[in-house]
Amino acid sequence: MTCKIIPEKCVSCGVCVGMCPANAIVAAAGKYEIDPELCVNCSVCIGMCPANAIVKEEPSCTGACATCPGACGGS
Ligand code: SF4
Ligand code: SF4
Repeated sequence: MTCKIIPEKCVSCGVCVGMCPANAIVAAAGKYEIDPELCVNCSVCIGMCPANAIVKEEPSCTGACATCPGACGGS
């Protein structure tokens, strides 16, 4: 699973940036984004966002087969 900021809901308050323990949330050109390479999927940011703009994305492949869960944890 990965976390994602929904641009249409984000009000660019910046609250999430300081809350992220992995410094994975970055602002670029006034838009806030989560760097998937840095995000450790702790979910802290989801509860902190006043606009409910951060969501966990369901992996598209969960349940597709039984090969990968042991390797990737389903994320
Ligand atoms: S806390 Fe929510 S609304 Fe504020 S910048 Fe982060 S994602 Fe956007
Ligand atoms: S889930 Fe955790 S690591 Fe990922 S962006 Fe949110 S606060 Fe940062």
